[in-house]
Amino acid sequence: MLPAVFGSGEQVDSVGLWIEGRVVATNGATADLFEPATGRALARVAVAGAGDAEHAAEVAARVFREGAWSRTSAAARQRALLALAARIREQAEALAQLEARNAGKPISDARWEVDAAAQCFEFFAGAATVLSGRVPPVDGRGLSVVLRKPVGPCALIVPWNFPFLIAAWKLAPALAAGNTVVLKPASATPLSALRLGPLAREAGIPDGVVNVVAGPGASAGAALVCHPAIRKISFTGDSSNGAEILHLAAPDIKRVSLELGGKSASLVFADADLEACVESSLLAGFGNAGQDCCARSRILVEESVHDRLVERFTAATRRLRMGDPLDSDTQVGSLISSAHRERVLAYVETGRAEGARLLCGAEIPSAGALAGGAFLSPAVFSDVTPAMRIAREEIFGPVVAILPFRDEQEAVALANDSEYGLSGSLWTGDARRALRVARALETGAISVNASRSVFLEAPFGGWKRSGMGRELGIEALEGYTETTSIYFETETEG
Ligand code: NDP
Repeated sequence: MLPAVFGSGEQVDSVGLWIEGRVVATNGATADLFEPATGRALARVAVAGAGDAEHAAEVAARVFREGAWSRTSAAARQRALLALAARIREQAEALAQLEARNAGKPISDARWEVDAAAQCFEFFAGAATVLSGRVPPVDGRGLSVVLRKPVGPCALIVPWNFPFLIAAWKLAPALAAGNTVVLKPASATPLSALRLGPLAREAGIPDGVVNVVAGPGASAGAALVCHPAIRKISFTGDSSNGAEILHLAAPDIKRVSLELGGKSASLVFADADLEACVESSLLAGFGNAGQDCCARSRILVEESVHDRLVERFTAATRRLRMGDPLDSDTQVGSLISSAHRERVLAYVETGRAEGARLLCGAEIPSAGALAGGAFLSPAVFSDVTPAMRIAREEIFGPVVAILPFRDEQEAVALANDSEYGLSGSLWTGDARRALRVARALETGAISVNASRSVFLEAPFGGWKRSGMGRELGIEALEGYTETTSIYFETETEG
C-alpha cells in the first residue's frame, strides 16, 4: 500500500491514486517522476491501469446515483467549493512549489496558477447558485419549465503544461453543476492533481465525488473514455488525441468537450505601440517556455515596421532570464522533458532547412546548474514564409516565427490560414480597424493591444482543430448539464 505523502521537503515520496475518499494502490504498478529542471528524483507514483480507471468510473457512477452531491442544494455546493478554494489558499505555497518542481515552470508562474485555480473554484461556487433553467413561452394553454440537471459522471483529462490550473477549470464547473468526476492528470505531472482529492474531502465534498487516477492515456485514459458509466468527457491535450477521444466516445454518443492545440498569431500594425507590443509578446510567446496552447507563436507584422519589431523583439528575447524554476526571478523554466526538447529542436532544424533565419536562442546550457535539466533558450525566427512548417505546426516550445504582411487584408488571411483557431492578439492604434479585424478572425479569443485572453467569466475554447465546447464562463457550467423540458397543461383541451 502506498502512503499518501505530500512532502514539503526535498523528496515528495510515494503517492497513490485517490478513489472514494482514500488513497488506493494499484496492483504494484509505480513510476518514478523526475524534476525536469534538474533530472533529480521527485516522487514515486502509483500508475493506474485500465482496471483502476474502470473502478473509479464505477464509484463515480454509484455516488452520482446515490445523490449525496448530485441532489444537494446549489447553496451547499457553493459552500463546499468555497471551502475547497480556502484549503487551496492555505496550502498555496506548497502546491506552487510542487507544481514548479514537477513541471519545471517558474515559481512565480506556479504561484499565479495556484491562485487562479482558487479563484476558479470561487467563481464557480457563485455560478452554482445562479445556474437555472427557464420558462419559455410555448403557447397559451400551458406552461413549459426547462430544468437544468447535472450530466452525470464526468471524465476530466488534463495535460502537463498547466496541471493544477486546467484541473481546476474542469473540476470547478463539473462539481458546481452537481456531477461526480474522475480526474486523470497527465502521466508527467500528476502530483498537484492528486492533492485535489484530499483537499476536496477536507472541504466537505462527499467521498467518491472527486476521484483521481494517474495513469497512461492510452490505457487508463481510454478506459475512462470508453466506460459506459461516463456521460461526459472534458479533454485538454493534443489535437490528434482529441480526435481519437471523439472516436472512442462516438458509440455511446457521450458528451465531449475538447481544448486542443493552437498556432495563435499576434497581428502588429504600423500604428501600434511597439514598445508595449514587444514587452507583452515576450510573455505571450515564451511564457511557460512556449508550452502553452494560447502561445502567440506567430507574429505577423506590417512591412513598414517589420525590421524595427524584429530587432526589438530579438533583443528583448535575449534578455529573458532562463533559470532555476524555484528562483523568483526566473522568467523561463525548463521544458517538460529532454524528449520534448528533442521534438522542439527538430522543428528548429526544420526551420533552418526550409530557409528561415534563426536570430537567437535554441541553445542548450552545456555547463552550470542548468545543464542537468531540459532547458532550451527562447528562439526567434525571421524570414519565415507562410508555407513553412514552423509557421503552420504547433511546436509547443520556446520558438516564435515572425512573418511580414502588406495590408490588413493579407494580415487577416495569414492569421486565418491555419488549421487552428484558439487565441490571438491584435496591436493597432485604430479602434475601427481593431473591431473590423477582430470580427474577421477565426479564433475563440482575441485581445486588442494586450496578450491576456483567458478570463474566468468569459468562454475559452477553439475553432477548427483547436477544439469544441468551451471552458470557463457560464458556457462551461452549462456544458456540464443536460436539460429536461417539462410541460404542464393548464387549460382544458378543445
Ligand atoms: P496529450 O494529448 O498527449 O495528453 C493530454 C492528456 O490526455 C494526458 O492526461 C494524456 O495522458 C491523456 N491522453 C492521451 N491520449 C489519450 C487517449 N487516447 N485517451 C484518453 N486520454 C489520453 O497532450 P499533452 O499532455 O502533451 O499536452 C500538450 C497538448 O495539449 C498541446 O497540443 C496543447 O496545445 C494542448 N493544450 C491545449 C489547451 C487548450 O485549452 N486548448 C491547454 C493546454 C494544452 P498521458 O499523459 O498519460 O499521455
